[in-house]
Amino acid sequence: MEKTLIILKPDAVKNKHIGHIVSRIEQENFTILGIKYLWMKRSEAKKFYAVHKERPFYKDLCKYMSSGPVVVAALKAPGAVAKWRELIGATDPAQAAEGTIRKLYAESKEANAVHGSDSAENAETEIHFFFKKKELID
Ligand code: UDP
Ligand code: MG
Repeated sequence: MEKTLIILKPDAVKNKHIGHIVSRIEQENFTILGIKYLWMKRSEAKKFYAVHKERPFYKDLCKYMSSGPVVVAALKAPGAVAKWRELIGATDPAQAAEGTIRKLYAESKEANAVHGSDSAENAETEIHFFFKKKELID
């Protein structure tokens, strides 16, 4: 079993896609270990995306990610990291495959509906960024 950290980004929440996306999570047989609704401060977004701090899109990304509430969740499934990334599609929704979450629900390359961890190791770090151990039901 593997874990991944996902975020339903501000555009997905604003556009009322929480239900659609959580429904896909259930249909695809992920186990929800923890889920919460929160509004990141700019400083928290900067910390979460620190790996991208040298990238040209970093400043705008952090502004966007702290522009409204999000849903964060820790999920478990066999191969959860790759499984979720396949389900969400390419970073740029214009490049995302038909039926993927980003193709269906994203607004733009930045406001692309969802986040997913990129490795099992980073997933652990990201899960603990948002959840205390006792908030995860495994
Ligand atoms: N992003 C952006 N412009 C880019 C690339 C990325 O605004 O040219 C944003 C987008 O919201 C993306 C996030 O930065 O989801 C993190 O980028 P990453 O390359 O890690 O993409 P992901 O892993 O989310 O597909
Ligand atoms: Mg990434």
